[in-house]
Amino acid sequence: MNASQPSPSDVVEVRDLVVRYSAATALDNVSLHVAPGEMVALVGPNGAGKSTLVNTLTGVLAPALGSVVVRARIAQVPEGRQMFGDLSVDDNLRLGAWRSPGRGRNRREQRDTSWVYELLPDLVRVRERKAGGLSGGQQQMVAVGRALMSRPEVLVIDELSLGLAPLVVADLAEHLTELNREQGTAVVLIEQNARLALDLCSRAYVLEAGRIAAEGNSADLAASPDIARAYLGETQGLPGPPDAPDAPGPDAPGPHDRATVVPASTPGTTETARGNQDTAVRGAQAATREAK
Ligand code: ATP
Repeated sequence: MNASQPSPSDVVEVRDLVVRYSAATALDNVSLHVAPGEMVALVGPNGAGKSTLVNTLTGVLAPALGSVVVRARIAQVPEGRQMFGDLSVDDNLRLGAWRSPGRGRNRREQRDTSWVYELLPDLVRVRERKAGGLSGGQQQMVAVGRALMSRPEVLVIDELSLGLAPLVVADLAEHLTELNREQGTAVVLIEQNARLALDLCSRAYVLEAGRIAAEGNSADLAASPDIARAYLGETQGLPGPPDAPDAPGPDAPGPHDRATVVPASTPGTTETARGNQDTAVRGAQAATREAK
């Protein structure tokens, strides 16, 4: 599982990053990098430090130690979307351009939402509706569109799939892939749904209790039995539930194959979450040993 090496052309370069909340260390010696146009996943269980890392990348939090260098325009889709619920979809999108510097475009061009509607055509028919009245998936699309309004070269998405039905997630995932392919936008995808993240992104980091526990090509990570067991919810010898309406088998045909993803840590009881996390720690440690 050889990780790619940092390069001076990377759009994001994080070295030996430590972030603390008062005395509590949330990130401990984290290093990662993102090349231009790359799709990189950051996976890990609850409390691993994913949001802390994202918020440090976008300047919301400051490092206690180490360095964060961002060499490109960066925009964040925050966890939980954070819509302006009383404003229309169109106004929410325009707010994304609010602090965007000119870069050769006049104010009218900056506020032009048409290209975002082209990329996310499902938003066209709801453009005058209040964002607060939309479905979760529509709101996530608005949140992505709003972030795109600043024409970022790096789009950081904190929990794309949170609370959304698999088909909606599949649709959003296709839009992201298209954005990456057509606009060359680099994507940093933070996900608890590790299968989705590894499917979508070519490279991934596994964050565990504030540290990078494993990193490498997504395919290699997904092929690791320990990672699969710890993060992908894949248990050998245990078939999935038959005919589950939201989770067709991996061979199910059609454009929404990605909807078959199985959440790495299904929201459930505290015991379940803790169990997942313990397994995750072991899996990540084993994968790191494999990578060495
Ligand atoms: P989740 O998937 O649940 O969102 P996460 O991987 O994004 O989790 P973070 O939210 O970054 O994890 O949290 C990392 C650690 O920092 C956790 O132990 C969390 O309790 C702690 N933490 C996060 N925000 C704060 C805060 N504002 N004050 C103190 N501790 C915090």
